[in-house]
Amino acid sequence: MADRDGFIWYDGKLVPWREATTHVLTHSLHYGLSVFEGVRAYNTVSGTAIFRLAEHTQRLLNSGKIYMMNIPYSKEELMEAQLEVVRANKLESCYLRPIAFYGSEKMGISTKGATVHVAIAAWPWGAYLGEDGLEKGIRVKTSSFARHHVNVTMPRAKLASTYANSILANLEATEAGYDEALLLDTNGFVAEGAGENLFVIKDGAIYEPEIASALTGITRSSVIQVAKEFGLEVISKRITRDDIYIADEAFFTGTAAEVTPIRELDGRVIGEGKRGPITQKLQARFFDIVNGKAPEYQHWLAYI
Ligand code: PMP
Repeated sequence: MADRDGFIWYDGKLVPWREATTHVLTHSLHYGLSVFEGVRAYNTVSGTAIFRLAEHTQRLLNSGKIYMMNIPYSKEELMEAQLEVVRANKLESCYLRPIAFYGSEKMGISTKGATVHVAIAAWPWGAYLGEDGLEKGIRVKTSSFARHHVNVTMPRAKLASTYANSILANLEATEAGYDEALLLDTNGFVAEGAGENLFVIKDGAIYEPEIASALTGITRSSVIQVAKEFGLEVISKRITRDDIYIADEAFFTGTAAEVTPIRELDGRVIGEGKRGPITQKLQARFFDIVNGKAPEYQHWLAYI
């Protein structure tokens, strides 16, 4: 990732990609406190646009606030910086990764005296769980690792160190031949995927786990809105893994994963073992929206 052409926005300036480096004694590298976002820009019918830029930027600022990290840029500055990165790299569609982290002024757990840096990179990134996954659905395994309790790491923040837990779960699942992991909370109820929110469909109703130990996904909120448009309410409730085994359909949502059907969990085929009809309808509408084909949702697109 480091050795390529292009520009990265780093502390207010565009710097050549290979020069966007930081010292090995960076506080965040040692103690894991950095907050970040995953954002996508799509090559819409009216030009390149970043999807839900304001919401992602607000979540980044919220993540900083939760961890008492003072991100030294305003929402407007960060939004403009993200647009600038897409333009500077001449990208038609891409994934963006804004990150705020502590510098190398000091060692020791306290962040006092460490400066906050912000970097924004962007690069082309196709379907996270594969094009095939989007169409046919993926195979998921419930992880033996529990998602962080709400008093361990705070799930409203998109915090780097939370992802050590995601990595363990994802490695376990992929080593066992599955595509992705599903994590339960410390009480055994379904929380989310390693990097996705989850929805299940049963008898025409859509359910999602109550958002406690899960990130408040922006794709999730987009899908909830789209479902409403189709007259389908999304019910938040405690969900067990066997609720998913006997569901008619299930799918993951995420900026990287977009809307990815789940065809199997722990060796149990879900529904007909393929992308279900409601999932397909929501997914198609989602792609129409991000690709600029839905005039009602233009306010979710920030054109570069
Ligand atoms: N949960 C986790 C743990 C994630 O990493 C992500 C991806 N950011 C999501 C859920 C989905 O969030 P969003 O739709 O905002 O990308």
